[in-house]
Amino acid sequence: MSERSYLDYNATAPLRPEVRDAMLGAFAIHGNPSSVHAEGRQARAAIEAARAKVAALLGARPDDVIFTSCGTEANALALAPVAGAWRCYMSAIEHPSVLTGGRFSASDVTRIPVTEDGVIDLDFLASELARHHFVGQGARPFVSLMVANNETGALQPVTAAAESVHAVGGVLHTDAVQAAGKVPLDMGALGADLVSLSAHKLGGPKGVGALVLRERVQVEPLIRGGGQERRRRAGTEHVSGIVGFGVAAEIAAAELGKARDIAKLRDELETRALAIAPEAIVFSGRLPRLPNTSCMAVPGTKAETLVIGLDLAGVAVSSGSACSSGKVEASHVLRAMGVAPEVAQGAIRVSLGIGSTPADIERFLDAWGTLIKRLRESRKAA
Ligand code: PLP
Repeated sequence: MSERSYLDYNATAPLRPEVRDAMLGAFAIHGNPSSVHAEGRQARAAIEAARAKVAALLGARPDDVIFTSCGTEANALALAPVAGAWRCYMSAIEHPSVLTGGRFSASDVTRIPVTEDGVIDLDFLASELARHHFVGQGARPFVSLMVANNETGALQPVTAAAESVHAVGGVLHTDAVQAAGKVPLDMGALGADLVSLSAHKLGGPKGVGALVLRERVQVEPLIRGGGQERRRRAGTEHVSGIVGFGVAAEIAAAELGKARDIAKLRDELETRALAIAPEAIVFSGRLPRLPNTSCMAVPGTKAETLVIGLDLAGVAVSSGSACSSGKVEASHVLRAMGVAPEVAQGAIRVSLGIGSTPADIERFLDAWGTLIKRLRESRKAA
């Protein structure tokens, strides 16, 4: 049994050894991908091979993949539609990089509420679209709805939303950063016009992402300069990072079948946690979720205490969204679901991955059970 149990895959997944090997190989390619000489062409070929692999993860065309510096940048680029009047709608549980609104002014953004299970209220979206967007009139709707939430894992009805959005001539962006590599994704089936991805969530390197968009959709570049990425994102490409992203995407696509085993481990963890503390709440537990994610709280506990206690016991999990780790503040996702602050403050996120084993679950349950018991006793004594 290894010395630590890493159960924070939604924060970042460990780099896959095959990715590291491919990246080390790519570091030896020294040409600039924009150069016409042999060295440049070698770098270009490496990027284009990776582009095809990333496109394949979504069943998209390689030409429609724009490499970016991360998922955050992909979201920012998506939220910069070209020319015309737009009104933006986004779910209240989007990642902060979407919630900022990108180039939309705050007055042009409407937040779509979610149910207590953490799923977007589709009726609200439909009625907003019907109220504001009659075909051929007014501003076009730009809707951003993530495939899966990073805190709860709750899967969102992207395909159904796409139908309503397209019926009024709108555009749908989906942040698939957490879903990619964990559930099968197909751009056509999703109905999304723009999809954001991030390499490090699926075993690739940190600092590489992509925005994948349909041919008919255009975005306003955020970074201008050279003609890279078909003039949609200037800057010399991060060749080794992009190569690593390609390999990670290829492996993730091939290993989607392993999600069932990961879900079994996650379900066992929840069942046994509920046996230890029947008062525990599993958020979004009743609905389809990512197979690897469990967000739970024991009322009266503080996530901070649990995360530190678990860390000392050799288990890495996070509290709230913890995208920028160390941050411990009330989760906007749980708030949007109407979870009482005294419950939300105890929420921890356990996220499994390809390297998770039954021994990791045992270590988590041992440490978590001990902490919960200790906290219960100190509350009684107080
Ligand atoms: N979108 C979601 C749903 C995320 O969970 C994250 C990171 O946690 C991001 C976007 C940002 O991705 P990156 O870390 O590559 O900027």
